Amino acid sequence: MTANILYIEDNEQNLYLITFLLQAKGYTVLQAREGQKGIEMAVRHRPDLILLDIQLPGMDGYSVARTLKGRGEVSGIPIVAITSYAMTGDREKAMESGCTGYIEKPIDPDTFIAQVERHLADGCGAGGET
Ligand code: MN
Repeated sequence: MTANILYIEDNEQNLYLITFLLQAKGYTVLQAREGQKGIEMAVRHRPDLILLDIQLPGMDGYSVARTLKGRGEVSGIPIVAITSYAMTGDREKAMESGCTGYIEKPIDPDTFIAQVERHLADGCGAGGET
């Protein structure tokens, strides 16, 4: 399955690693390094899934998620927060902000793609078992 995934992240190492993992599986990855830019790209490109870092310069991930969920044309796109394992409150706040799910950092390269694909399948609603 091919899909377009928008990844909003300010950390270059995470951007590199996650983009690498996704592209290796055939996904197209759009990158944004701050929230406002990410919102613009979401509206312009309508990705199938958004991966969202929470700690971003300027507008944080919660605000980005709330903004996206408030815009009709992109409100249906699933958003997966990339949260820090240590920050236990992040998950709840991410879900309250409208995120569909979360993946904890540091990400595990062996299971990351499977985690992403679970959210892609949820978001599409179509397909599934036949
Ligand atoms: Mn960050």
